[in-house]
Amino acid sequence: MKYISTRGDAPALSFGDVLLAGLANDGGLYVPETLPKFSQEEIASWAGLSYQELAFNIMSPFVAGEVPDIEFRRMINEAYAEFDHKAVAPMVQTDTNEWVLELFRGPTLAFKDFALQLLGRLMDYVLTQRKEKLVILGATSGDTGSAAIEGCRHSDHLKIFILHPHQRVSEVQRRQMTSVIDDNVFNIAVKGNFDDCQGMVKNSFADQSFLNGGKLGAVNSINWARIMAQIVYYFSSALSVGGPHRKVSFSVPTGNFGDIFAGYLAKQMGLPIDQLIVATNQNDILHRVISENDMSRQSLNVTLSPSMDIMVSSNFERLLFDAHGRDGESIKDLMARFNQGDVSLNDEAWSFVKTHFDSYKVDDNRTCDVIKQVFEDTQYLLDPHTAIGLDAARNCWKDKSVPMITLATAHPVKFPEAVEKAGCEVPKLPEHMADLFDREESYQVLENSLEDVQAFVTKNI
Ligand SMILES: *Cc1c(COP(=O)(O)O)cnc(C)c1O
Repeated sequence: MKYISTRGDAPALSFGDVLLAGLANDGGLYVPETLPKFSQEEIASWAGLSYQELAFNIMSPFVAGEVPDIEFRRMINEAYAEFDHKAVAPMVQTDTNEWVLELFRGPTLAFKDFALQLLGRLMDYVLTQRKEKLVILGATSGDTGSAAIEGCRHSDHLKIFILHPHQRVSEVQRRQMTSVIDDNVFNIAVKGNFDDCQGMVKNSFADQSFLNGGKLGAVNSINWARIMAQIVYYFSSALSVGGPHRKVSFSVPTGNFGDIFAGYLAKQMGLPIDQLIVATNQNDILHRVISENDMSRQSLNVTLSPSMDIMVSSNFERLLFDAHGRDGESIKDLMARFNQGDVSLNDEAWSFVKTHFDSYKVDDNRTCDVIKQVFEDTQYLLDPHTAIGLDAARNCWKDKSVPMITLATAHPVKFPEAVEKAGCEVPKLPEHMADLFDREESYQVLENSLEDVQAFVTKNI
């Protein structure tokens, strides 16, 4: 399988190269040159498979030629072994024909574990084959950091440095990162904000000379392998409610558009999907694009669902590539126009987007109301991101005979503020994390200075 850039100027790469490269060198994002397609019969024959077996069937075409089957199976088994439910991604019914897909059963209690548990192992494998090493450098405002650290901690070929804004992440989030004490894990608390951290990461990628010949790798949400791993649970959940013999709809709490883009790919690969609903909080650029073709940037709102607080959704470019007939030139032009302030799609592209997606926006007050209401009705506690997804599902659902699945992207214990505002009791930490507040922590507090951060990295590689 070859991968091509959405902007058309970067060379086509193999899976292994894309895995290590992250962004394409023309500024675009890598996508598969062609997608594997599965027939209805083939998908139906997967009913009853374990999550791991299904994952192998769905993902193996994407890694073909790069990772031998036996190795890929081992990685998949290891990646999902630490999830605390045997089904890996279990479903909970919340109403007639309405389900919540629990994607928070992994080590850090958010859906990012699905991709990052596998990504770390894939990188480790490819680096071993190539006798290379890689320095992972990332910035986090909370969730991604811990999932990335968990995914990379066991690798002999990766060193991971994660920057977080000092005293600006929640205690649970910080401890999930800083209580991982491994030789290859380095947490840095920067005396600045998230943008400062992100800026340092960007600058470091642009000029890597401080590494004295070392190489940086990224695990952020534009990495293709993350999207790939997220395709699997669309299939597993659809199969468990009667797919592919009947259509299924999905509602997805959305930020960078990675998770729901995986749902779009599942549909292109043959899974009968009726609706794909983009659920946003007040940071509603995607809702505005889909509903009124307005892609203007607005200032960032801090909400009760922080993992969806984004101004621009980086993975949306992958969809725009398809919406423009997979023509890299068009995407280059479009991006240039965006930077000059032109903020709408041409009619054809907008209509493509609207054909595939519905959207809905939910504010903080409504989020709390939904958490409260659903808890009163069913005794099931939603996290704020999932509450947004469920509200969007209920408001956009066109055909009630089609099962509606909302992706539950995080465990409510991670977002106590929203749960309390909703008037509900904050649950206990799950068993495997019960001692989180007693664990030893290790992190370095550094000044808001690129030089200091880079010197720290250099010293430790
Ligand atoms: C990352 C995240 C999202 C957004 O996912 P995208 O792939 O960026 O759209 C939603 N909810 C939670 C809890 C997350 O951590």
